[in-house]
Amino acid sequence: EYSLRAKRVYVAGHGGMAGSALVRRLASEGCEILTAPRTVDLREQAMVRDWFAKNRPDAVFCAAARVGGIAANDRYPAQFLYDNLMIEANIIDAARQTQCGKLLFLGSSCIYPRMAPQPICEDALLTGPLEPTNEWYAVAKIAGIKLCQAYRQEYGCDFISAMPTNMYGPGDNFDLATSHVLPALIRKAHDARVNGDQTMTVWGSGAPLREFLHVDDMADACVFLMQNYSGHSHVNVGYGSDIAIAALAQMVANVVGFTGTLQFDTSKPDGTPRKLMDSSLLRSMGWQPEIALERGIEDAYRQFLASGNLRQV
Ligand code: GDP
Repeated sequence: EYSLRAKRVYVAGHGGMAGSALVRRLASEGCEILTAPRTVDLREQAMVRDWFAKNRPDAVFCAAARVGGIAANDRYPAQFLYDNLMIEANIIDAARQTQCGKLLFLGSSCIYPRMAPQPICEDALLTGPLEPTNEWYAVAKIAGIKLCQAYRQEYGCDFISAMPTNMYGPGDNFDLATSHVLPALIRKAHDARVNGDQTMTVWGSGAPLREFLHVDDMADACVFLMQNYSGHSHVNVGYGSDIAIAALAQMVANVVGFTGTLQFDTSKPDGTPRKLMDSSLLRSMGWQPEIALERGIEDAYRQFLASGNLRQV
């Protein structure tokens, strides 16, 4: 086991949903948590090298990325591809240069082919065409996995990668133009209830199936992998079951207290029909999630209410 105790642990992307969950989770590991100020632009190689040379982390969680939902990916293809390629390449290479002992790269379930057999195993990677609505982000994340594998093979670096399914929870993005489905539904149901609307709009047909993992479970899995895994393959981090978008919207409406009807806007894209990971590799190592979806949504809604995300109505 790789112990984090008394280590200098850098969390890249500590301001984001995944990074901030990692910072919360690491608080109980007895390590020194390092973060870089926003002035260190992770897309700039010189800045990243300089920060690593000065701070010399023992371990790195690479949770920095440009992220967004189905609409944002479509609108900013260059930023999703370029920014993510640069961030991961700079961090991974700087970690090698400073002899960092362990690095975990965080990816996404969208790396898999659109028509991958479900549930999706790790070895489905690069077996078919990607879902076009997020291929920019996916190509960058696939490159990140390959960087970790290449650095392990050529330089002997203990760099691993974890592929979490759709995440949600505290620190989520609730902006309707760029968010993922779960925070969008929370905001929409909340606004509809507060405004006294009879209907709430859900994008697409409601038929696509998605898997959702609370970000605190994701952070726990990443710390577990950092401590217990040193392999070539990336590792899926899933919840274990999926839900149709229509059923998810109804669950969110129930939690929020919106009693009107759901209206499906089929002019909006469905994206990939189903995305459920096979997480048996991680389960076989002895890890499982703790936060059931409905309880997680209740938590996310409480955080939404507390976080000043409320729109004036
Ligand atoms: P994806 O998992 O990469 O497809 O990204 P999203 O989380 O953005 O979308 C998941 C599914 O939820 C897609 O089928 C969307 O069309 C659907 N969806 C329904 N309502 C919304 C919404 O208000 N916002 C977003 N982002 N997706 C929505």
